[in-house]
Amino acid sequence: MKTNLTKLQKFACWVGIFAGIFFILRGVSLPSQALEIFLPKPVLPSHTPLLDKNQDTNLSPLPKEISSSFPSQPAPQKAEASLSLSPEKDKKIEKLIENLQAAKVSFDKKLCEQMEHINQDILYQLYEEDLPDNIIDEKKDEKFMHPCPKALKDLQILPDKKPAYFGPVPLIAIVIDDMGISPKRTAEIIDIKAPLTASFLTYGRNLETQIQKAKNSGHEIMLHVPMEAQTTKDVAPDVLTTRMSQQEISERLQKMLQKFPNINGINNHMGSKMTENEQKMAAVMEVLKQHRLFFLDSKTSAKSKAKEAALQYGVAYAQRHVFLDNLNDKNYILKQLQQMKSLAQKNGYAIAIGHPKTQTVLALKEWLPKNQDIQLVPLSHIVKILHPNFVQDNSLN
Ligand SMILES: [Zn+2]
Repeated sequence: MKTNLTKLQKFACWVGIFAGIFFILRGVSLPSQALEIFLPKPVLPSHTPLLDKNQDTNLSPLPKEISSSFPSQPAPQKAEASLSLSPEKDKKIEKLIENLQAAKVSFDKKLCEQMEHINQDILYQLYEEDLPDNIIDEKKDEKFMHPCPKALKDLQILPDKKPAYFGPVPLIAIVIDDMGISPKRTAEIIDIKAPLTASFLTYGRNLETQIQKAKNSGHEIMLHVPMEAQTTKDVAPDVLTTRMSQQEISERLQKMLQKFPNINGINNHMGSKMTENEQKMAAVMEVLKQHRLFFLDSKTSAKSKAKEAALQYGVAYAQRHVFLDNLNDKNYILKQLQQMKSLAQKNGYAIAIGHPKTQTVLALKEWLPKNQDIQLVPLSHIVKILHPNFVQDNSLN
């Protein structure tokens, strides 16, 4: 029986994967229930009730491949037909709903394990929006000035050519987003013993253990906050949206931060819609100010208003210059790393964002030891140079 169930689960998983590929290829967003199959959610989000017992039609909303893989459960339609409306039978319906909910929770856990084997490109299309390919050059940005103007004067550099930072060695920070979702790929990043900056989502499994391991490898920890995207659905459990009131945004973010007591900053996961809304971003910045945290703008939208909101609240702000792995291809990633290096040589520093993908891991392992003429530092190190008044270092707590 156990073997049969496992086979059925595997079969259902693959059906789900092929359905996912089909929808992606068609450019159609997946229905939220289909997405739920792929998403690693150990706890079901409270705002999406699985079954609504007040509506008979909602008795069988589970995807067919899930409900059909539990032969011991009565088929929902059959159960509905055989039960009339009486207090006793209402109880039976309630019990049935409970069983189905329990079944789906345990099934999701199995699927989470299977996710380790899902092609990573498909996985990333499911939980990351299309990332822009643009390289952001900070040179023209007058907000980023060297903290010691005299040093620049001595160098006789024209004002419009002033680099943002002019220390002895150009600095780079490499932030790895989406950490914690796939323990296997997160472990591959953690295996790189270098001062990378690991940005963890709030809903990974065994989060504390994964974070501790990353710290032991010399990584700085950040919170990767899901924010509403223009094109994709709100697939992340803890997402902040423009539909929320400022109060709600604040409460949600505070709750997320409770899981990350010793960090220095956050950045946005997706967020092309949310970051364009200055008012809603102000609610985010208010919380960051309170906790003395910096904001790294992932720049998923060119029209992001996060900087304006950060300035309004005096929150330390930095932005991503290069996305390393929009293509899961080692040679492409090596090229992006070189781009980051030339930006750092020109401007004094550069910030790149990558993801826990196998090709990224391979590229970093190859590239980092060969490029000792620039210095890889935790992101907060760069933020402190850009914002000398930002002296908080929570990670030492
Ligand atoms: Zn992300």
